[in-house]
Amino acid sequence: MNDITIIGAGPAGMMAAITAARRGAGIVLLEQNTDIGKKLLSTGNGKCNYTNKKMDSSCFNGSIRLIKNGLSVFNENDTIAFFEELGIPAYDKNGYIYPNSKQAASVVAALRMEMTSLKIDVRTSFKVTDIKKTDKGYVVFSENDKVESKKLIIAAGLKAAPKLGSDGSMFKIIESLGHRFLPVVPALCGFYCEGLKFNKTAGVRCDCALTLHTSAGNSLCSDGELQITDYGMSGIPVFQISRYASMDIKNGNTPRLETDFMPRMSDDELLKYLRKRVACVKDKRSVNEMLNGILNQKLMLELIHQSKISPDKKAAMLDDKDLNKLVSVMKHTYVYMKKPRSFEFAQICAGGIDTKQIDPCTLSSKVCDNLYFAGEILDVDGICGGYNLQWAWTSGYIAGMESSK
Ligand SMILES: Cc1cc2nc3c(=O)[nH]c(=O)nc-3n(C[C@H](O)[C@H](O)[C@H](O)COP(=O)(O)OP(=O)(O)OC[C@H]3O[C@@H](n4cnc5c(N)ncnc54)[C@H](O)[C@@H]3O)c2cc1C
Repeated sequence: MNDITIIGAGPAGMMAAITAARRGAGIVLLEQNTDIGKKLLSTGNGKCNYTNKKMDSSCFNGSIRLIKNGLSVFNENDTIAFFEELGIPAYDKNGYIYPNSKQAASVVAALRMEMTSLKIDVRTSFKVTDIKKTDKGYVVFSENDKVESKKLIIAAGLKAAPKLGSDGSMFKIIESLGHRFLPVVPALCGFYCEGLKFNKTAGVRCDCALTLHTSAGNSLCSDGELQITDYGMSGIPVFQISRYASMDIKNGNTPRLETDFMPRMSDDELLKYLRKRVACVKDKRSVNEMLNGILNQKLMLELIHQSKISPDKKAAMLDDKDLNKLVSVMKHTYVYMKKPRSFEFAQICAGGIDTKQIDPCTLSSKVCDNLYFAGEILDVDGICGGYNLQWAWTSGYIAGMESSK
């Protein structure tokens, strides 16, 4: 009988396998895809942003105890050292860490070589369909095969980007072992929105500060390059607030997103600036012409429409009331977040296995003996920037370590 079966050859499962095998455990790693690390290959636009130098528990959502304990055991420096040892030098871009090759494929190759050296039994095209707990341990079934082991680690991910493997097929099986899932929603994704004419502004990328106003009365801020699309909004600042918006929508609400397209100026500064522009206006320029160059043309035209000022009005005729309206649309336009894009377009999911049923120090189940969880499948999610992979490495390391004791 094997010592440990691990389900899922994503980053969490592979880290667990390597950690436990280095301690002498006999490992079988099961993966339903035809190859390991399929999602890992797509990370960071194929460059794999595998951790971040600015690491703190506040970059994650979930049980603070579990996250803090995890980072105290295996943090960003341990991740960098782990990959250095596998022959991958780190490339630091403002704290965002990538392999120096800037190829996710080298990360997957390094993990594969290490697993081969450690003689880990990797079985691909093995889709787990059932798990039975026995007196001796666990039997894991596929349609026409089975694997027995004393201990089991489940690192099967949730439902983000299901074409890359994590398709939720383990949910019912895990529930049958007595574990509960908290609602699973798409995160680090774009949103269908209403409030701007998106068909007219699609394709615009601009600096923007966002404030999400949830129905519970919370406000969350983020900034960066916003991407306006034909369905709504996407880009890093939307990703950073996405899990809260998704949860609010899941609870039947429609969160409001306040957009500030002039984040480097206060309302007052912008008003003064516009007054100056009006004072300097030459010829018979229109409002649209007078505002040329401040923001993307398509976006500015839409904002002028939102202000209810005619874009053809003579700029010299604008009074302070009009200018305040322009300040308001440039700095406080509200859009309504109707729904997140589907799991297919999400980088991660928020929600997952309720960590109240998990020992925060060992990641073992409080419900079944000798069962451990690692990675995204647990109710822990990070912001964009290498944090979700860090959680995969951290939790994979702990599950591998604890299960091989
Ligand atoms: C496009 C994209 C880009 C991303 N970029 C980044 C980034 O740059 N930095 C970052 O930190 N994070 C990034 N992420 C998020 C990151 O990839 C995930 O957080 C991480 O992969 C989760 O690791 P995991 O091992 O828990 O799960 P997964 O990587 O989802 O692996 C789970 C594995 O389990 C297997 N499995 C599931 N069910 C079964 C079953 N029934 N039987 C057998 N096998 C099964 C799946 O096939 C899969 O291979 C990105 C995600 C996407 C989609």
